[in-house]
Amino acid sequence: MTQSTHNLVDTMLNDFDIAAIRRDFPILNQQINGHPLVYLDNAASSQKPVQVIDAVDQYYRLDNANVHRGVHRLSQRATDAYEGARSKIRGFLNAKSDKEIIFVRGATEAINLVAQSFVRPQLQAGDEILISYLEHHANIVPWQMVCEQTGATLKIIPMTESGELNLSGLDELLTDKTKIMAVGQVSNALGTVNPVKQMTEKAKAKGIPVLIDGAQAVPHMQVDVQELDCDFYVFSGHKMFAPTGIGALYGKQALLEAMPPWQGGGDMILSVSFDHTEYNALPYKFEAGTPHIAGAVGLGAAIDYMQSIGIEKIAAYEHALLELATDKLSAIDGVRIVGTAEHKASVLSFLIEDVHPHDVGTIFDQQGVAIRAGHHCAQPVMQYYGIAATARASFAFYNTEQEIDALVKAIHTTQELFA
Ligand code: PLP
Repeated sequence: MTQSTHNLVDTMLNDFDIAAIRRDFPILNQQINGHPLVYLDNAASSQKPVQVIDAVDQYYRLDNANVHRGVHRLSQRATDAYEGARSKIRGFLNAKSDKEIIFVRGATEAINLVAQSFVRPQLQAGDEILISYLEHHANIVPWQMVCEQTGATLKIIPMTESGELNLSGLDELLTDKTKIMAVGQVSNALGTVNPVKQMTEKAKAKGIPVLIDGAQAVPHMQVDVQELDCDFYVFSGHKMFAPTGIGALYGKQALLEAMPPWQGGGDMILSVSFDHTEYNALPYKFEAGTPHIAGAVGLGAAIDYMQSIGIEKIAAYEHALLELATDKLSAIDGVRIVGTAEHKASVLSFLIEDVHPHDVGTIFDQQGVAIRAGHHCAQPVMQYYGIAATARASFAFYNTEQEIDALVKAIHTTQELFA
């Protein structure tokens, strides 16, 4: 880092009321193995502020009932809270209409929904689906399944040593047989921020629909689906300070209207008889059965919370943390950072020479430092580098400069133990 970058990082770190923010996350205030908890596993799942915990608590204490069904007061309140959360997501992603927001369990379910309901009915043997080398398994396996079901072929955008996508052949990979391009905005294994807007432009110029996996993007940056002009955008609530088991699929209204329902059951119908069933309108057509109402309420509260801090501010602070951590880890002999893309968000994957990442994770835990060790559900990325796993520290806006020092100390301790 140059001196001016150092100064900028310092300014960003000082400009953020980190003590106030940390007070909102009660879980952070605990000891693990006699050390203060340093939670650096945010890419796997993030912690929840009291604002989210309270919203869920209040929902169950005061409003709990089933939605869309009852005429009674509690059911109306539950419905208002659930639909209110949908509107918040619409605003958060800048979608045009609430009808374009489908509640799902998370990014995985959303991708499966699009694979089975949008892509599968149009796929024929010989057609192609384009994804990238950097994808999470959630954006690989549903497409492999649909290829197996139809005889279509999965095509892969290659990656480079720095962990970026090699887009030089993208034009050739987007063919008249490509039925969808599905790419992640941010790699969970390496933190690479992919140029999804430019990639989407290229695909759309050829009339190819685009799905963006935003699971690792929404906690860290402003997303505008109209500006991206993608057809589908998916994310999980639990990675953005909301409960588990809730997430959203954004889809352009005209596409969602034309798609058949994925799952059948209550709430997704207008009328049912043994001769004929009429499906409900959007977004309910894709929400069969009783949804995760409390989760949706928590997701709405998480959006309010992030917006109260300011997403641009969150992005700048996390960027400063990442720069600082990258700088410090690069300076340690025997540590190799895996993934050195120019544009990265909040993820630092690394290897300590002669120490297996799982041992790294275990020794870190002894010092209260929670990281993830493994393939991060991105085994092709590991295969590219010829490794089985990495240690991964991933940051959120409640992490601090001192926690990066704890990470560095944990690395030194590990090296000493294995010396
Ligand atoms: N996509 C990416 C980039 C991810 O990082 C993850 C989770 O780690 C997923 C999809 C799947 O998310 P979930 O397990 O919440 O459905």
